Amino acid sequence: MTAQLIDGNALSRQLRADVTARVTALKARGITPGLAVILVGENAASQVYVRNKVKACEDTGMHSVLERWPATMTEAELLARVDALNADATIHGILVQLPLPAHIDAQKVIEAISPAKDVDGFHIASAGALMTGMPGFWPCTPYGCMKMLESIGYGLKGKHAVVIGRSNIVGKPMALMLLQQNATVTICHSGTPDLKAMTLQADVIVAAVGKRNVLTADMVKPGAVVIDVGMNRNDEGKLCGDVDFEGVRQVAGWITPVPGGVGPMTITMLMVNTLESAERLVA
Ligand code: NAP
Repeated sequence: MTAQLIDGNALSRQLRADVTARVTALKARGITPGLAVILVGENAASQVYVRNKVKACEDTGMHSVLERWPATMTEAELLARVDALNADATIHGILVQLPLPAHIDAQKVIEAISPAKDVDGFHIASAGALMTGMPGFWPCTPYGCMKMLESIGYGLKGKHAVVIGRSNIVGKPMALMLLQQNATVTICHSGTPDLKAMTLQADVIVAAVGKRNVLTADMVKPGAVVIDVGMNRNDEGKLCGDVDFEGVRQVAGWITPVPGGVGPMTITMLMVNTLESAERLVA
């Protein structure tokens, strides 16, 4: 079997076209959706991420503000900026790029963001909303994974999904979203004694670990759907995921590539969340 590709770039283009149309409609009603991105320090990867997020706003017609602050910024100064953006009527989404410098308590800063503008979905109110099935913002990366499953018409009801990784931003929310769609969900982590025994039972595998080749062909049931969230570098310095793509694609039914899979979907879902935050004002 050679797996079919779930193309995150193509799906993103489709979803962003829809976002652009809805932004245009909202602008006609006098509201321009706005995203504020705060970057503290000089982390090289973060610089690329925030640039891509601001560009996505421009491409879809949204307003964006990028605040760059030195790594010496104090926690109190950052909290004051978040407060100001909470009160800014032109801003519908606030994103504080992580990681923050060690002297700033990232959780405290996230909790300072108004839940109504928490488009990253990291606030404890957003996590609680997801857990209880209430309306709220879903974290962008697992939300993008769900859209990828939806795009292939995959019905999760009665399926066994195995999520590898249990972080607050990917693994745990991913598991809750799959559960909400009536999958039977297993969550694996670094303390799971026999990962292969778990993944071999899975109809859907989501790998969100941050280590190359965590999932190899011998660990995958023929026809399974494999979503690769990982972002790593191979020996040649090229971007790669957690999955041994060449091996696993021979066994799986569907697979997401890296690059061009979950990565672009994450930014697309940030656009969707920001737009929906603005749309709530006229709903
Ligand atoms: P994280 O916070 O470091 O969590 C990694 C998880 O993997 C932890 O739960 C850890 O278990 C588990 N783990 C580590 N080694 C394992 C092993 N050998 N077997 C099974 N589980 C293992 O990472 P994250 O923030 O969730 O991100 C995961 C990956 O996704 C990273 O590569 C990150 O760069 C990528 N990512 C990509 C996007 C995107 O847009 N494409 C967005 C976010 C993250 P313990 O809890 O027991 O330590």
